[in-house]
Amino acid sequence: MRFRGTDLLKLSEEARTQVRGQRIAMIFQDALSALNPVFTVGWQISEMFRVHRGMSKTDAMKKAVELMDRVRIPAARQRVHDYPHQFSGGMRQRIMIAMSIALDPEVLIADEPTTALDVTVQAQIMELLAELQRESQMGLILITHDLGVVADVADKIAVMYAGRIVERAPVHDIYRAPAHPYTKGLLDSIPRVDQKGQDLYAIKGLPPNLLDLPTGCAFHPRCPYRQDNCVTDVPPLYEISGTRGSACHYWREVLDGEQQ
Ligand code: SF4
Repeated sequence: MRFRGTDLLKLSEEARTQVRGQRIAMIFQDALSALNPVFTVGWQISEMFRVHRGMSKTDAMKKAVELMDRVRIPAARQRVHDYPHQFSGGMRQRIMIAMSIALDPEVLIADEPTTALDVTVQAQIMELLAELQRESQMGLILITHDLGVVADVADKIAVMYAGRIVERAPVHDIYRAPAHPYTKGLLDSIPRVDQKGQDLYAIKGLPPNLLDLPTGCAFHPRCPYRQDNCVTDVPPLYEISGTRGSACHYWREVLDGEQQ
Protein backbone atom coordinates (compact mmCIF):
# COMPACT_ATOMS: atom_id res chain seq x y z
CA MET A 1 0.00 0.00 0.00
CA ARG A 2 2.01 2.94 -1.30
CA PHE A 3 1.32 6.64 -0.79
CA ARG A 4 3.59 9.19 -2.48
CA GLY A 5 6.26 6.52 -2.79
CA THR A 6 6.07 5.39 0.85
CA ASP A 7 4.91 1.92 1.85
CA LEU A 8 2.32 2.72 4.53
CA LEU A 9 2.42 -0.79 5.96
CA LYS A 10 6.11 -0.36 6.85
CA LEU A 11 5.60 2.92 8.78
CA SER A 12 5.77 3.02 12.58
CA GLU A 13 2.47 3.56 14.42
CA GLU A 14 3.52 7.14 15.17
CA ALA A 15 4.37 7.91 11.52
CA ARG A 16 1.10 6.32 10.41
CA THR A 17 -0.83 8.57 12.79
CA GLN A 18 0.71 11.57 11.02
CA VAL A 19 -0.70 10.32 7.71
CA ARG A 20 -4.13 9.25 9.02
CA GLY A 21 -6.64 12.07 9.19
CA GLN A 22 -4.12 14.70 8.09
CA ARG A 23 -2.88 13.49 4.70
CA ILE A 24 -5.38 10.70 4.10
CA ALA A 25 -8.88 11.20 5.52
CA MET A 26 -11.94 8.98 5.46
CA ILE A 27 -15.73 9.32 5.38
CA PHE A 28 -17.73 6.35 6.67
CA GLN A 29 -21.09 5.19 5.38
CA ASP A 30 -23.18 5.63 8.51
CA ALA A 31 -22.62 9.16 9.80
CA LEU A 32 -24.84 8.64 12.85
CA SER A 33 -22.68 5.86 14.27
CA ALA A 34 -19.44 7.59 13.20
CA LEU A 35 -20.30 10.79 15.12
CA ASN A 36 -20.19 10.89 18.91
CA PRO A 37 -23.77 11.38 20.20
CA VAL A 38 -22.77 13.16 23.44
CA PHE A 39 -20.74 16.02 21.92
CA THR A 40 -22.01 18.87 19.76
CA VAL A 41 -21.02 18.72 16.10
CA GLY A 42 -19.05 21.94 16.55
CA TRP A 43 -17.00 20.34 19.31
CA GLN A 44 -16.30 17.31 17.14
CA ILE A 45 -15.27 19.29 14.06
CA SER A 46 -13.19 21.75 16.10
CA GLU A 47 -11.37 18.88 17.82
CA MET A 48 -9.44 18.37 14.57
CA PHE A 49 -7.96 21.87 14.88
CA ARG A 50 -7.37 21.69 18.63
CA VAL A 51 -5.58 18.33 18.46
CA HIS A 52 -3.71 18.58 15.16
CA ARG A 53 -3.14 22.34 14.85
CA GLY A 54 -2.97 23.31 18.55
CA MET A 55 -5.65 26.02 18.15
CA SER A 56 -7.52 27.58 21.07
CA LYS A 57 -11.14 26.47 21.65
CA THR A 58 -12.50 29.79 20.32
CA ASP A 59 -10.42 29.78 17.12
CA ALA A 60 -11.12 26.09 16.52
CA MET A 61 -14.87 26.70 16.88
CA LYS A 62 -14.66 29.56 14.32
CA LYS A 63 -13.00 27.15 11.91
CA ALA A 64 -15.80 24.63 12.58
CA VAL A 65 -18.40 27.24 11.56
CA GLU A 66 -16.39 28.04 8.39
CA LEU A 67 -16.29 24.37 7.48
CA MET A 68 -20.00 23.89 8.11
CA ASP A 69 -20.61 26.85 5.79
CA ARG A 70 -18.32 25.28 3.20
CA VAL A 71 -20.32 22.04 3.17
CA ARG A 72 -23.49 24.19 2.99
CA ILE A 73 -25.13 23.52 6.34
CA PRO A 74 -27.67 26.34 6.75
CA ALA A 75 -27.37 28.63 9.81
CA ALA A 76 -23.97 27.12 10.66
CA ARG A 77 -23.26 29.68 13.40
CA GLN A 78 -26.26 28.49 15.40
CA ARG A 79 -26.22 24.84 14.42
CA VAL A 80 -22.61 24.38 15.50
CA HIS A 81 -23.99 23.91 19.03
CA ASP A 82 -26.43 21.12 18.05
CA TYR A 83 -25.94 17.39 18.61
CA PRO A 84 -25.78 14.78 15.80
CA HIS A 85 -29.33 13.47 16.44
CA GLN A 86 -30.71 16.97 15.70
CA PHE A 87 -29.59 16.73 12.05
CA SER A 88 -31.06 14.81 9.10
CA GLY A 89 -29.07 11.95 7.50
CA GLY A 90 -27.85 14.16 4.65
CA MET A 91 -26.78 16.96 7.00
CA ARG A 92 -24.94 14.46 9.23
CA GLN A 93 -23.04 13.21 6.20
CA ARG A 94 -22.11 16.83 5.41
CA ILE A 95 -20.74 17.14 8.96
CA MET A 96 -18.64 14.00 8.40
CA ILE A 97 -17.37 15.50 5.16
CA ALA A 98 -16.53 18.76 6.98
CA MET A 99 -14.50 16.78 9.54
CA SER A 100 -12.70 14.81 6.86
CA ILE A 101 -11.61 17.86 4.84
CA ALA A 102 -10.74 19.96 7.93
CA LEU A 103 -7.01 19.36 7.64
CA ASP A 104 -6.83 19.64 3.82
CA PRO A 105 -6.00 15.98 3.15
CA GLU A 106 -4.27 14.96 -0.08
CA VAL A 107 -6.53 11.90 -0.39
CA LEU A 108 -10.08 11.41 0.79
CA ILE A 109 -11.48 7.86 1.03
CA ALA A 110 -15.27 7.84 0.93
CA ASP A 111 -16.69 4.43 1.89
CA GLU A 112 -20.26 4.15 0.57
CA PRO A 113 -20.87 7.80 1.56
CA THR A 114 -24.45 7.87 0.26
CA THR A 115 -25.77 4.40 1.17
CA ALA A 116 -28.11 5.48 3.94
CA LEU A 117 -29.51 8.47 2.01
CA ASP A 118 -32.40 8.92 -0.38
CA VAL A 119 -31.69 9.47 -4.06
CA THR A 120 -32.02 13.28 -4.07
CA VAL A 121 -29.72 13.70 -1.07
CA GLN A 122 -27.31 11.15 -2.60
CA ALA A 123 -26.96 13.37 -5.65
CA GLN A 124 -26.33 16.46 -3.50
CA ILE A 125 -23.64 14.71 -1.46
CA MET A 126 -21.89 13.40 -4.58
CA GLU A 127 -22.02 16.88 -6.12
CA LEU A 128 -20.51 18.34 -2.94
CA LEU A 129 -17.70 15.76 -2.89
CA ALA A 130 -16.91 16.38 -6.56
CA GLU A 131 -16.87 20.14 -5.98
CA LEU A 132 -14.57 19.88 -2.94
CA GLN A 133 -12.31 17.54 -4.88
CA ARG A 134 -12.03 20.02 -7.76
CA GLU A 135 -11.47 23.01 -5.47
CA SER A 136 -8.76 21.46 -3.36
CA GLN A 137 -7.28 19.11 -5.99
CA MET A 138 -7.31 16.23 -3.52
CA GLY A 139 -7.55 12.62 -4.66
CA LEU A 140 -10.94 11.02 -4.06
CA ILE A 141 -11.26 7.25 -3.65
CA LEU A 142 -14.90 6.30 -3.72
CA ILE A 143 -15.83 2.83 -2.48
CA THR A 144 -19.30 1.81 -3.64
CA HIS A 145 -21.38 -1.09 -4.90
CA ASP A 146 -23.49 1.33 -6.93
CA LEU A 147 -22.02 1.92 -10.39
CA GLY A 148 -24.70 4.54 -11.04
CA VAL A 149 -23.21 6.74 -8.31
CA VAL A 150 -19.69 6.82 -9.75
CA ALA A 151 -20.47 7.55 -13.40
CA ASP A 152 -20.33 11.34 -13.02
CA VAL A 153 -17.63 11.58 -10.38
CA ALA A 154 -14.90 9.06 -11.15
CA ASP A 155 -12.12 9.18 -13.75
CA LYS A 156 -11.01 5.59 -13.25
CA ILE A 157 -12.75 2.52 -11.89
CA ALA A 158 -11.31 -0.61 -10.30
CA VAL A 159 -13.91 -3.37 -9.93
CA MET A 160 -13.21 -5.79 -7.09
CA TYR A 161 -14.48 -9.32 -6.59
CA ALA A 162 -13.55 -11.65 -3.73
CA GLY A 163 -10.85 -9.27 -2.50
CA ARG A 164 -8.99 -8.61 -5.75
CA ILE A 165 -9.21 -6.20 -8.65
CA VAL A 166 -10.85 -8.00 -11.58
CA GLU A 167 -11.11 -5.04 -13.94
CA ARG A 168 -9.61 -1.57 -14.07
CA ALA A 169 -10.29 1.05 -16.70
CA PRO A 170 -11.13 4.70 -17.37
CA VAL A 171 -14.75 5.22 -16.36
CA HIS A 172 -16.20 5.64 -19.87
CA ASP A 173 -14.56 2.46 -21.21
CA ILE A 174 -16.21 0.41 -18.47
CA TYR A 175 -19.66 1.81 -19.16
CA ARG A 176 -19.26 1.52 -22.93
CA ALA A 177 -17.96 -2.06 -22.97
CA PRO A 178 -17.01 -3.99 -19.83
CA ALA A 179 -14.21 -6.55 -20.23
CA HIS A 180 -15.03 -8.81 -17.28
CA PRO A 181 -18.22 -10.87 -16.80
CA TYR A 182 -18.63 -9.59 -13.24
CA THR A 183 -18.50 -5.94 -14.35
CA LYS A 184 -20.95 -6.77 -17.11
CA GLY A 185 -23.26 -8.40 -14.53
CA LEU A 186 -23.09 -5.32 -12.29
CA LEU A 187 -23.97 -3.01 -15.18
CA ASP A 188 -26.80 -5.27 -16.36
CA SER A 189 -28.20 -5.20 -12.79
CA ILE A 190 -28.82 -1.43 -12.89
CA PRO A 191 -32.59 -0.95 -13.37
CA ARG A 192 -33.48 0.92 -16.58
CA VAL A 193 -36.62 2.89 -17.29
CA ASP A 194 -36.93 1.37 -20.78
CA GLN A 195 -37.27 -2.14 -19.27
CA LYS A 196 -40.55 -1.46 -17.57
CA GLY A 197 -42.54 -4.64 -16.84
CA GLN A 198 -39.54 -6.96 -17.29
CA ASP A 199 -37.79 -8.92 -14.54
CA LEU A 200 -34.73 -7.17 -13.13
CA TYR A 201 -31.44 -8.86 -13.97
CA ALA A 202 -29.39 -10.35 -11.11
CA ILE A 203 -26.03 -12.13 -11.16
CA LYS A 204 -26.86 -15.72 -10.28
CA GLY A 205 -25.49 -17.33 -7.10
CA LEU A 206 -23.93 -15.72 -4.06
CA PRO A 207 -20.59 -14.03 -3.30
CA PRO A 208 -18.01 -16.62 -2.20
CA ASN A 209 -16.81 -17.29 1.33
CA LEU A 210 -13.50 -15.40 1.51
CA LEU A 211 -12.07 -18.10 3.80
CA ASP A 212 -12.85 -20.80 1.26
CA LEU A 213 -12.52 -19.31 -2.21
CA PRO A 214 -13.42 -21.34 -5.29
CA THR A 215 -10.43 -22.79 -7.19
CA GLY A 216 -9.15 -21.02 -10.32
CA CYS A 217 -11.16 -17.89 -11.06
CA ALA A 218 -13.17 -17.00 -7.94
CA PHE A 219 -16.08 -15.91 -10.14
CA HIS A 220 -16.36 -19.23 -12.04
CA PRO A 221 -19.40 -20.68 -10.13
CA ARG A 222 -21.44 -17.66 -11.24
CA CYS A 223 -19.97 -16.92 -14.63
CA PRO A 224 -21.90 -17.40 -17.89
CA TYR A 225 -18.59 -17.32 -19.88
CA ARG A 226 -16.92 -20.12 -17.85
CA GLN A 227 -14.72 -22.67 -19.64
CA ASP A 228 -12.90 -25.72 -18.20
CA ASN A 229 -9.63 -23.91 -17.46
CA CYS A 230 -11.49 -21.26 -15.39
CA VAL A 231 -11.97 -23.88 -12.67
CA THR A 232 -8.24 -24.55 -12.35
CA ASP A 233 -6.30 -21.47 -13.52
CA VAL A 234 -6.36 -18.19 -11.62
CA PRO A 235 -6.53 -15.45 -14.27
CA PRO A 236 -3.86 -12.74 -13.95
CA LEU A 237 -4.86 -9.12 -14.56
CA TYR A 238 -4.37 -9.22 -18.36
CA GLU A 239 -3.34 -5.92 -19.90
CA ILE A 240 -5.85 -4.85 -22.55
CA SER A 241 -4.30 -1.43 -23.13
CA GLY A 242 -2.06 0.96 -21.20
CA THR A 243 -4.99 2.05 -19.06
CA ARG A 244 -7.10 -1.08 -19.01
CA GLY A 245 -6.86 -4.55 -17.50
CA SER A 246 -9.15 -7.54 -16.91
CA ALA A 247 -8.64 -10.65 -14.76
CA CYS A 248 -10.56 -12.89 -17.14
CA HIS A 249 -9.11 -15.54 -19.46
CA TYR A 250 -11.86 -14.70 -21.94
CA TRP A 251 -11.88 -10.91 -21.78
CA ARG A 252 -11.75 -10.71 -25.60
CA GLU A 253 -15.01 -12.64 -25.91
CA VAL A 254 -16.68 -10.49 -23.23
CA LEU A 255 -15.46 -7.30 -24.90
CA ASP A 256 -16.38 -8.47 -28.43
CA GLY A 257 -19.88 -9.42 -27.26
CA GLU A 258 -20.34 -5.92 -25.85
CA GLN A 259 -19.02 -4.11 -28.90
CA GLN A 260 -21.19 -5.95 -31.43
S1 SF4 B 1 -11.85 -16.39 -16.07
FE1 SF4 B 1 -13.54 -17.73 -16.69
S2 SF4 B 1 -14.87 -17.87 -14.92
FE2 SF4 B 1 -13.50 -16.16 -14.59
S3 SF4 B 1 -14.62 -14.42 -15.27
FE3 SF4 B 1 -13.42 -15.10 -17.00
S4 SF4 B 1 -14.71 -16.54 -18.14
FE4 SF4 B 1 -15.64 -16.22 -16.13
